[in-house]
Amino acid sequence: MSEDLDALYQRVILDHSRRPRNYRAIERAREAEGHNPLCGDRLTIYLRIEDDRIVDASFLGTGCAIAMASASMMTEVVRGKTVGEAEALLVRLRRLITSPRDTPVGDLGPIAALAGVRRFALRQKCATLPWHALVAGASHSGRSVSTE
Ligand code: ZN
Repeated sequence: MSEDLDALYQRVILDHSRRPRNYRAIERAREAEGHNPLCGDRLTIYLRIEDDRIVDASFLGTGCAIAMASASMMTEVVRGKTVGEAEALLVRLRRLITSPRDTPVGDLGPIAALAGVRRFALRQKCATLPWHALVAGASHSGRSVSTE
């Protein structure tokens, strides 16, 4: 990865962490909590799902820049997607951030910026935490997820 791309990714993550999108609650929505004790990230994800499609997603909580940026990007990216498509994105995101640095990012849209996390193994859980919470909330398999 070129340094220019690293710098771009860093700017995108900083922008989302400083001005998180969809930082609000949704009334009468499905909720799931995500907790990453290693870092202290604690997020609540809100979801409105109609006919298996995510029509609205938002979050509240506190976390490091990576967790906040990932949640912010996620709430934008998953809107209009089915629950299955959102789960597939989590799988691809996890594959991306655990891949060697020079692996091509591929077609991941805005969340490609999380590729910058590849340099920081400890931050990988911060990046995937909101996604795990979203999948848990969508599937009713559990209302709370922890990375540990
Ligand atoms: Zn974190």
